[in-house]
Amino acid sequence: MEFISTRDPNLRTGIEQALRAGLAPDGGLYVPERLPRLEPSAMNPEASLAECALDVLAPFFDGSRLAERLPAICREALNLPLPLVRLDNGPTWLMELFHGPTAAFKDFAARFLAGCLQALGRGSPITTVLVATSGDTGAAVAAAFHRRPGFRVVILYPDGRVAARQAHQLGAFGDNVHALRVAGDFDDCQRLVKQALADRDRVRRFGLTSANSISIGRLLPQISYYALAALRLREHAPIDVIVPTGNLGNALACILAREMGFGIGSVHLATNANRTLPDFFAGQDYAGRPGLKTLANAMDVGDPSNFERLAWLFRERDPRNAGIEASSYDDAAIEDTIRRVWRERGMAVCPHTACAMALAGHLREAGRDSPLLIAATAHPAKFDSVVEPLIGAPVEVPPALARLLARPSRSEPIAADDGALNSMLEHLDDA
Ligand SMILES: *Cc1c(COP(=O)(O)O)cnc(C)c1O
Repeated sequence: MEFISTRDPNLRTGIEQALRAGLAPDGGLYVPERLPRLEPSAMNPEASLAECALDVLAPFFDGSRLAERLPAICREALNLPLPLVRLDNGPTWLMELFHGPTAAFKDFAARFLAGCLQALGRGSPITTVLVATSGDTGAAVAAAFHRRPGFRVVILYPDGRVAARQAHQLGAFGDNVHALRVAGDFDDCQRLVKQALADRDRVRRFGLTSANSISIGRLLPQISYYALAALRLREHAPIDVIVPTGNLGNALACILAREMGFGIGSVHLATNANRTLPDFFAGQDYAGRPGLKTLANAMDVGDPSNFERLAWLFRERDPRNAGIEASSYDDAAIEDTIRRVWRERGMAVCPHTACAMALAGHLREAGRDSPLLIAATAHPAKFDSVVEPLIGAPVEVPPALARLLARPSRSEPIAADDGALNSMLEHLDDA
C-alpha cells in the first residue's frame, strides 16, 4: 500500500515515510492511495480491539517492514477497555473511549503512533517528540512515550488556558517528559512547534519529530474501534454514529470504517460553537476561521485540518451528499445537556460528549428511531471544574487519572518565542 498527498497524487510514499514525516512535502496530508474493502461478515464480533485492529489495519501496512511488527504494536497499544453502554434498554449505545491512561480517546492513537515510531527505530540515539496542546493531546502523547527508551517528550501548552487538572496531568509524568507553559495562547504554542519542525538544522540537532493530529499514524488506529463497535452491534446494522468533533480526526476515522464496509449508517458530527463544519454541511462553501473558546476546549477548532482528507475522500462526489451531517452546540446548550443527562440518567458527561448527547436528543425528538452509537470522548472527571458545579455533585476520578493527579506536577515557564524554546531544548535533562 502506498500513501499519497491530498494535494498531489504523484507524491507517493510507503507508510514508514508517511509516519516519519507527518506532513507530505507539499504541505498536504497523507492518505492511503485506495481504501481496502473488508468482509465484516467473516470477522469475529467477539474479537478484542487489538485483534480487530490487526484485521482492519493490516492492508495499510502491506509491503512495509512494519507489517510483521503490527500484531505486537496493536496488542501493546490497543489493550484498552472499550465498553458499549446501552441506554434505556433501547437502540442507543454509548461507546466509552476514555478508559486509557489519560482518560480521553486520544490515548488509543497516541499509543499506536508511539509503538510504530519505536518499531521504525526512531529513538536512536534520542528522538524529541515536540507537541503543542490545548489539553488532551499533550497528555496522551506524554503517556504514550513516558519512559520509552530513546524518546523524550516536550509539551508546550498555553499558561492559564487549560483546565487545572489538564495542567496538573501534563506536569505529572516527569522522567523523559518535559512540560513547558508558554506565555501565550494555543496558536503561539503551535507556531513554536511548526517553526522548530520546519528548521532542518534544529530537527537534526535535537532529533525532533512531531506527533500531532494530522499524522496518518493517529488517524488509522481510530478506525478500529468503530469497526469493532459495528461488528458487536451488527444485528442492528446499519447503525448511525454521533462523534464530538473538532479537528475531524475521530469522525473521519468513523467515515473510513463505513467506507471500508462496516455496518455504519449516517455519521453525525457534533461541534461546539465553532460552526465551520455545520455551515459547510448546511450548504455553504467551506470557510476556515479562527477558533472560538468554549467549554468543550478540545474542540475549539475553526479550521479543522482533516477537512482536507475528507475532501479528498469524496473528491468524485459532494461530501454534502454522502451521509454526513453536522450540528453545532453553544456553551448554553452544553451546560443544559450536562444538567439534563445528570437529571435523567444520573450520568455525568464531559462537555465534548455533551455536544453528542445534545444531538442524540434532537434526533430522537425529531422521531428518528434508528440504532445510534454515541462516541464519549473524555471522562467527565477531567473537566470537573465545568461539570461539578452544573450537576452539584463530585465526579468520581478513574484510577489512572487519580494516580497521575496524586503525583507532584512540574512545568517550566517559557516566553512565546523561538529563542526561549531553543535554549530550553539545549538544556533538557531527562531524569
Ligand atoms: C480532541 C478531542 C475531541 C475532538 O476530536 P477531533 O479528532 O479533533 O475531531 C473531542 N473530544 C475530546 C475529549 C478531545 O480530546
